[in-house]
Amino acid sequence: METETSTIPIEKDYQELREAVARVCGDFPGEYWRELDAKSEYPTKFVKAMTEHGFLAALIPEEYGGSGLPLRAATVILEVIHETGCSAGACHAQMYTMGTVLRHGSPEQKQEYLPKIASGELRLQAFGVSEPTTGSDTTQLDTRAVRDGDEYVVNGQKIWTSRALHSDLMLLLARTTPKDKVEKRTAGISTFLIDIRGAQGNGVDIRPIDTMINHHTTEVHFDDFRIPASSLIGEEGKGFYYILDGMNAERILLSGESLGNARYFIKRAVDYANERIVFGRPIGQNQGVQLPIARVYAETEAADLMVRKACAIFDNEQPCGAEANMSRLLSAEAAWNAAEVCFDTFGGFAFAREYDIERKWRETRLARTAPISTNLVLTYIGQHVLGLPRSY
Ligand SMILES: Cc1cc2nc3c(=O)[nH]c(=O)nc-3n(C[C@H](O)[C@H](O)[C@H](O)COP(=O)(O)OP(=O)(O)OC[C@H]3O[C@@H](n4cnc5c(N)ncnc54)[C@H](O)[C@@H]3O)c2cc1C
Repeated sequence: METETSTIPIEKDYQELREAVARVCGDFPGEYWRELDAKSEYPTKFVKAMTEHGFLAALIPEEYGGSGLPLRAATVILEVIHETGCSAGACHAQMYTMGTVLRHGSPEQKQEYLPKIASGELRLQAFGVSEPTTGSDTTQLDTRAVRDGDEYVVNGQKIWTSRALHSDLMLLLARTTPKDKVEKRTAGISTFLIDIRGAQGNGVDIRPIDTMINHHTTEVHFDDFRIPASSLIGEEGKGFYYILDGMNAERILLSGESLGNARYFIKRAVDYANERIVFGRPIGQNQGVQLPIARVYAETEAADLMVRKACAIFDNEQPCGAEANMSRLLSAEAAWNAAEVCFDTFGGFAFAREYDIERKWRETRLARTAPISTNLVLTYIGQHVLGLPRSY
């Protein structure tokens, strides 16, 4: 019987796109990422290359200068970036934040911003949702935007606003009606597309947070920051609903990254297990080494099917909350399990930075916490899919 030794799945969609992305990623080897990681620097050159090849504008319609591809194609782009050992963490936000502008922005907003985002002239990489005191309970957010003539005045604090120092625009979620004046906790929240160029020190204070990964995340303080009323996306008070479909897109897209991470670790583990000779034989000949790799391969293939299902439903404009959350859960777990297995396979060498395993292992852990924690995904499935009582 012929044996399947490749870690590449038999059927891969968007083959040409995969090859094109992999070609560009080939210019950014582990050494590039290792150096940035050591200095906590932003991958400007990589983001420029991704922009110039149009990959970051995959979801922007052709009329606005993008390629108008479905979510599935964008998910594949992120998967390949991570499968090749690169990281889209510095630039992936553009893919899911621009959807809110596209679906709910006015014709003027779309015409003004989308072509510039597509060309790279404007960077939309910051998404201000999380706040220090409210955590996963997004509807309780406290940042206020109060209408004053032709402006809104913003006050409050965001935390974990990634890439705010490397973005021109921010998609901001703020309360426009106080909590005690709304009937539903999801009401009274609005979405704004704000220009943060030159805002630092002028009503906005952005402070980097030192984290275990090179993610350029920050805390953002707003102190009487005035924004034009035209920054409002859609109707005032409906912002929470606008970002919900964007959040499904985000979960699916980032699942692509997790699949890519899982495949990266599996390939590295397989190669090393075949090459490393201990006790006179390749370590991969030992079942204690081989079977965990086989297991995470199966987990990754299963997660891949769920991601494809979620993409198909999203691209058919059907409700995909269950599938988006299950994609997030399964792909994040497959990636983390693959990271652990790869770490074990490399033995002590996993700790040596030059092998890139420890760096990817650190980076891969994030998917179990952000953009949504594992528990919160499970509570969604419990309540919305299985009909169990709301637990939070
Ligand atoms: C590197 C990084 C980058 C990020 N980037 C962004 C960004 O760009 N924009 C942005 O808005 N946010 C960002 N985040 C924030 C991220 O979305 C949150 O950290 C995440 O949603 C979890 O929220 P929290 O940290 O406040 O945890 P908490 O809500 O405080 O939860 C802590 C723990 O308790 C659990 N928990 C809480 N309530 C319940 C419950 N009812 N039932 C069961 N378990 C529960 C959670 O699952 C979690 O394990 C980022 C975070 C990190 C670490």
